[in-house]
Amino acid sequence: MRKILPFASILFTLFINFAFAQPSPESQLGFAIGADRKLADWNEIIRYFNTLDKNSERVQMVELGKSTEGRPLVFAVITSPKNFARLDDLLNIQRKLADPRQVHADSLASYLRRGRTVVMINCSIHSTEIAASQMAMELAYKLTSGNDALTQEILDNVVLLLSPSSNPDGIQLVVDWYKKYLGTPHEGSSPPWLYHPYAGHDNNRDWFMLNLVETKLITAVLYQKWFPQILYDVHQMGDKGPRFFFPPFYEVSNPNIDPILLRSIMQIGGHVTTDLAAQGFTGIATEWTFDTWWHGGMRSAPYFHNSVGLLSEAASVKLATPVEIKFDEITGAGRGLSNARDFQTNFPEPWKGGWWHLRNIVDLELTASYSLLTLAARYRDQWLHNFYRLGQRAVEKGKKDLPRAYIIPSSQHDAAAAQKLLDLMLLQGTEILRAKKDFIADGANYPAGTFVIDLAQPYRNNVVALFEKQKYPEKRRYPGGPLEQPYDVTGWTLPLQMGVEYFSSVQEIKDLVADTINAFKPPATRQFIATSVPREKSDQFIISPNSLDAYKLVNRLLKKNQSVVWNRDKSPEKNLLLVQTDFDALTKAAQNLSVNIATATAVNNNGNAMKLKRPRIGIYRSYVATADEGWTRFVLDEFEFEYKTLEDGDLRRGEFITQFDAIIFPDQRDSTILLGRRSRDDDEDRKYPAEFTGGIGNLGFNHVHRFVEQGGTLLAFDSATRLFIRHWALPVVNELDGVKATEFSAPGSLFRGIVDTNHPIAFGMPRETTLFFSNSGAFSVREGRTIVKYPLQNPLLSGWLQGEAKLQGKSALAEIPFGRGRVILFGFRPQHRGQTYATFKLVFNSLWYAAAETINPGKAVTAEE
Ligand SMILES: [Zn+2]
Repeated sequence: MRKILPFASILFTLFINFAFAQPSPESQLGFAIGADRKLADWNEIIRYFNTLDKNSERVQMVELGKSTEGRPLVFAVITSPKNFARLDDLLNIQRKLADPRQVHADSLASYLRRGRTVVMINCSIHSTEIAASQMAMELAYKLTSGNDALTQEILDNVVLLLSPSSNPDGIQLVVDWYKKYLGTPHEGSSPPWLYHPYAGHDNNRDWFMLNLVETKLITAVLYQKWFPQILYDVHQMGDKGPRFFFPPFYEVSNPNIDPILLRSIMQIGGHVTTDLAAQGFTGIATEWTFDTWWHGGMRSAPYFHNSVGLLSEAASVKLATPVEIKFDEITGAGRGLSNARDFQTNFPEPWKGGWWHLRNIVDLELTASYSLLTLAARYRDQWLHNFYRLGQRAVEKGKKDLPRAYIIPSSQHDAAAAQKLLDLMLLQGTEILRAKKDFIADGANYPAGTFVIDLAQPYRNNVVALFEKQKYPEKRRYPGGPLEQPYDVTGWTLPLQMGVEYFSSVQEIKDLVADTINAFKPPATRQFIATSVPREKSDQFIISPNSLDAYKLVNRLLKKNQSVVWNRDKSPEKNLLLVQTDFDALTKAAQNLSVNIATATAVNNNGNAMKLKRPRIGIYRSYVATADEGWTRFVLDEFEFEYKTLEDGDLRRGEFITQFDAIIFPDQRDSTILLGRRSRDDDEDRKYPAEFTGGIGNLGFNHVHRFVEQGGTLLAFDSATRLFIRHWALPVVNELDGVKATEFSAPGSLFRGIVDTNHPIAFGMPRETTLFFSNSGAFSVREGRTIVKYPLQNPLLSGWLQGEAKLQGKSALAEIPFGRGRVILFGFRPQHRGQTYATFKLVFNSLWYAAAETINPGKAVTAEE
């Protein structure tokens, strides 16, 4: 839709809802959507949607911003011209219904009558699950060209937000790769790189942390502007199981999801799967594998914003190349379905096998979308009223249930982490109060400036689900049998992961004089915890290392060749960074940071002072791409560390040895690092071009060995530790290596860790921290030094743990001297998904440590060293 309509055209749109046929996708692309071996790339998709925008009064394209690599991130708004003519009114109604506190009882009926159901359909967030990005063009074409009664009903009652992909960079990458190898033996393989530049598949694990630019932009418009009542996220899965999954979901469910939503999921699921059956689709599974426990997916965030979230998973083809699946090759086990060849209640009509084409997926997704839109249109008043009631119930629950509020002190060990937590809560629509005066809660005094999240607010359930300690319900396959593995992690309590202090208040906090900070009335500055800079001018300063922003600041100063001395003390409070720099340069570098700076006084060197140098960092990247590698880059970029990527070939050539101080091996299986794609001897892995196969090999591994022997620092995260412990015979045993799942299991939980604050790697850390553990490691160290260990009591803080005795008192992080260098073994995920702020410093310090130079003891330390 053109942005400014001529007057005559406005009259036209007000009275007539008849559409002229639009150019079909086929007429523009030169092939039919879903044709074998044909894919439109991101430019072609955008061009087609722009054509509709120009020609149809039923479409308006919205650009939300730019993707990580700078491509337009868009969605199409699709509704009737009548609805477009009063879009502001519709948005206003949405905002009112989203916050029942703003709705006067007399106006509710009018809002429900005048409002429209807002539905978001999101396609191909996972870029190799590419059918939906193509399907989106056909769906938009049908909705803009159809004059049938059903299409009219949908357009009149629904405002559809259609996102052809929430990861444009990945669509481009995947289509380019597919076209490059079309007609070769490698046709249909997935690219050997992450399809989101940082997160790969984990781009759908970011919906509460909001690290990625795409997640931030979409979250802000969904939960502050459009407030969809229904969100449908369209995915694909493996090719050998059921043809299509649609909810209801499998057990287990998050207790913070309102029953209205769980029932609404069943309502839509019943409707859609009945339509699919009636239209002759087979192999449709419900109540299988996918659950509603975990919080961070695109379709799970809606549950905590009073919306219905849905997911479909279609059986894949090889990108656009068809596959043949014979009936006896069908497997498809998984929670709730033992095989996909036999009839059962949640799988009433098995698929008979045969050829499976891209078009089969498009047909399933189109039918499901139309069916869902029909239900959204037909029960418009129900969706709107329930949306309003959900907000109302959340507010009521916040008044009655415990806790009543969360309190976040403004004075924190790590101010940068607290700033980030407040910021991301605000972005997802949370209302935060800031006390103007001192107040008392649960008998404790809190000073002015303290942050309070009163839970009597519409998005209460989101706050509780992020702040409470998760207790994953025990669900076993049979009594005494192994735990059923959760779909994703079991514990994620945000303030714990981030090392932010907070309190739950069981009392209503009365007489709280406070400012409300919320996304609708954004504060002038989002910098809640500002940098404190000394008043008097000087050229020598002390920076407290407690705030993570100190690392950003020091990295900025090191880049400008300023002198920074790292001084450590037995009492951690005296740990500090001494800087010599120009006052104005320092204040400029500290802009937008949360860090504590003071003027320097003389400091005695007890032998623990080191001069910091810019570390030369290498990060290993396998052609079997892992999200952990991407997140490592993300976190280093966020905190302004520079690094280089080392691929298999770089390590095999080995010239790097003199060029790096530290090399990081992110979490990855040892055999995959060594052997690469040939590690699993099957067809899947053989079909890659030679340059993407082979791993680091013995040659690369020997080069890494020499690098450490000659003084380099090696960081190994989680499963990558195994490679070095085993093959280099390190004086370390991983006590969890080879332990059966029935004896020990902790699939994504938060543990307490005890920190040796005297070690340089623990610089700036508190004595206790939170570790993210995903069936990771626990070490017995014969020679070397433990920096973080698991406590002697049960370490579980949030999530699930069985078999805790196996790790009590064991080492979680150890420095092992090796030749003239060292290996630093992380038995947990220190930078997991960019969420674990509590342990980022352990990585950053390891990198600084790798390059720092010791200063002779006895000599008074000044910043001039
Ligand atoms: Zn997916």
